[in-house]
Amino acid sequence: MFGSTARWSFWSEPARVRLLVVAVEAVAIGLAVATLSSGPPTGADLALGGWILLLGMAHIEAATGIERIRRRVTATAYFDLSSVWTFAAALLLPAAVATGVVVVLYAHLWLRVWKPARVPLYRLVYTTATVVLAAVAAHAVVLAARAAGAAAHELPALGWIALAALVYLVVNNMLVVGAVALGEGLGEPRTLLGGLDDHVLELATLCLGAMVALVLTADRWTAALALAPLLVLQRAVQVRQLEEAATTDQKTGLLNTAAWRSAAARRLERADRSRGAAVLIADLDHFKSVNDTHGHLVGDAVLAAVAAELRAEVRQHDLVARFGGEEFVVLLTDLTAGGAGRREVLAVAERIRARVAGLGVPVPAAAGPVVVDGLSISIGAAMFPEDGEELEKVLAVADESLYAAKDAGRNTVRIASGPVVPQARRSTDDAAAPVPAPDPVAARPSARAGGPFAE
Ligand code: GH3
Ligand code: MG
Ligand code: MG
Repeated sequence: MFGSTARWSFWSEPARVRLLVVAVEAVAIGLAVATLSSGPPTGADLALGGWILLLGMAHIEAATGIERIRRRVTATAYFDLSSVWTFAAALLLPAAVATGVVVVLYAHLWLRVWKPARVPLYRLVYTTATVVLAAVAAHAVVLAARAAGAAAHELPALGWIALAALVYLVVNNMLVVGAVALGEGLGEPRTLLGGLDDHVLELATLCLGAMVALVLTADRWTAALALAPLLVLQRAVQVRQLEEAATTDQKTGLLNTAAWRSAAARRLERADRSRGAAVLIADLDHFKSVNDTHGHLVGDAVLAAVAAELRAEVRQHDLVARFGGEEFVVLLTDLTAGGAGRREVLAVAERIRARVAGLGVPVPAAAGPVVVDGLSISIGAAMFPEDGEELEKVLAVADESLYAAKDAGRNTVRIASGPVVPQARRSTDDAAAPVPAPDPVAARPSARAGGPFAE
């Protein structure tokens, strides 16, 4: 949450985030105090709260190894499976006792998982406050059900439980998303809201929470059986997240080289040769001077912005990776058959070049935000199967094209097989153009815009 850098402190968050954090915490504390004033909890409530807490702590202990790794690798929103226990508490216990369960459980989670993963304390405090608010809001639904006739000390009907789960989800997510949006801007919806998988997981957790609550009303010991499916669920989540982390370049969110190579090789093996494919290698020009002028952190922000432009310019199924340093690689597949495919590749490469040339990356600086612009990128392209029958060969040819683009003065696109003749000047067949002599005309911004990949 709030970005991925554990080194950040509360004071490095923007003032509006700090304000939200303090406000949410104040409301959570206020609510906790207000619920206490409705009368002291009964011994039975305290005993049930203690039992839920015990199960929750046992869960954390059993899952400690898994959760530590998960917290380290995941960059997307973090959903805590401990909502099984906090939601069960919200359904069964008075708000004050449920609040106590949340606070103690998160303190335990902090000591065993978050602190060793070096998550700043204020994030824990904020998360605890959001869970308290979610639990109190869900409990308000239970109170409404009782006011409408449901028996006290029993779970209300399924409809009420579903409503309580919805309220719990919405309150918790709104507060987390609010903090991220205030801190980082709205950005990518997936990063902000978490993916569908995350929400399904959260929903599954709340379903388990409701079932645990139901079992707790019948037999406390039996509720411990929930621990086994919960740990299996946790392990499944970990496998998915580790897989994602192992194939992703952390700085740009693109594929990393190893993942790209194996995915690209598989694609080419299965490729319909009549449709053709192409590899682009793109290298930022004089990138060292961006670092020298603005520092490496700004350089990293520029890399991420260029990566986003690349991703936005190609189709969803095209493979884009960070190839290392300030180099990127793209596999374009399903091109139009014959020479038209080459023109498509050139058009895509040219649009990428133009995007980067027009890019302004806003970055924070000591004397207020500055915009890094004047960037440029050189791109080399090669065709499959014309330039090589396998990935490594096509890559090598694209690399040669990239060198040709650099030699030609940078901010330029070069393609390997044959001179490029812009479409307007072409005769019918260009598939057999054999000369790897790049034509500056096609490489320059004059190359046609639009085309089959245009958005
Ligand atoms: P050219 O036009 O010939 O490509 O010049 P260049 O400066 O881009 O190329 P060179 O290979 O001399 O330098 C690449 C630079 O990229 C050097 C290094 O500081 C920078 N770089 C590589 N990886 C990263 C990274 O992860 N973050 C940042 N900020 N800079 C990086
Ligand atoms: Mg470079
Ligand atoms: Mg380079």
